[in-house]
Amino acid sequence: MIRSITTVAEMQAAREALSGSIGLVPTMGFLHGGHLSLVRRSKRDNDHTIVSIFVNPTQFGAGEDFERYPRNEDRDLAICAEEGVDLVWAPPEDEVYPPGFDTRVSVGAIARPLEGAARPGHFDGVATVVAILFALVGAERAYFGQKDAQQVMVIDRMARDLALPTEVIGCPTVREPDGLALSSRNVHLTPEQRAAAPVIHRALLAGCDRYRAGERAAEAIRSTVRQALADEPLAAPEYVSCADAATLAELERVDRPTLLSVAVRFGTTRLIDNEPLG
Ligand code: AMP
Repeated sequence: MIRSITTVAEMQAAREALSGSIGLVPTMGFLHGGHLSLVRRSKRDNDHTIVSIFVNPTQFGAGEDFERYPRNEDRDLAICAEEGVDLVWAPPEDEVYPPGFDTRVSVGAIARPLEGAARPGHFDGVATVVAILFALVGAERAYFGQKDAQQVMVIDRMARDLALPTEVIGCPTVREPDGLALSSRNVHLTPEQRAAAPVIHRALLAGCDRYRAGERAAEAIRSTVRQALADEPLAAPEYVSCADAATLAELERVDRPTLLSVAVRFGTTRLIDNEPLG
């Protein structure tokens, strides 16, 4: 049976006992098929796979869902054991942020729009904790989901700029059969909201269809997505973005690789998703 390691010292001792390449899968736990796809990719690419489970308080804003974020460490451990994960590190807060901790990693332009604008400080928290994880684990590769596309870009920028030796690898979004992207937060949806939530991906696909039919005006594509979301009264869109996939700057014309992305609230639950265009 796999056991979860809590301290930095134990984790590093166990990590040093593993020879060969290491893949790291950072998570906030409450594991689902999206996380498992990252674990499986890591196991294919590396000799050993380490999963971290840490609900990072510094990436949640005031009034966000840190307290009610779903947690179930026993179940997560059983899943990791079944998947053949070599080591699970589930540290308490003061192992990651020991007394006196006073540093913040702040990524520039790529962290500002979209999730950065909607959640001030969020990406500082993400970049800081991932920098710590990369430094402590020293993995060859780390795996992140494209569902959080901007997060992958922010972490990749951070790792390159800080010359961290861990390669950042983005992996495809895993979805329910009805198109809803798997997310730990889906558990908070009421049955009515859950039934309505596939509108997120339907709306993104409507935007993709409009692009495929020849539309190149970004606002027309955003408008298609907004209209599709408006069909569902339980969906409250926060943003609909049609942005340059390299910079995340909003586009006028879709004439380069583009990311169509949305944040949508269902009651108190905020979900994000995206699809590439072009
Ligand atoms: P989280 O536990 O939500 O912080 O997610 C941990 C990692 O799993 C992040 O890199 C996420 O982007 C990734 N992830 C979350 N949901 C999915 C999904 N549906 N498909 C693929 N990766 C995902």
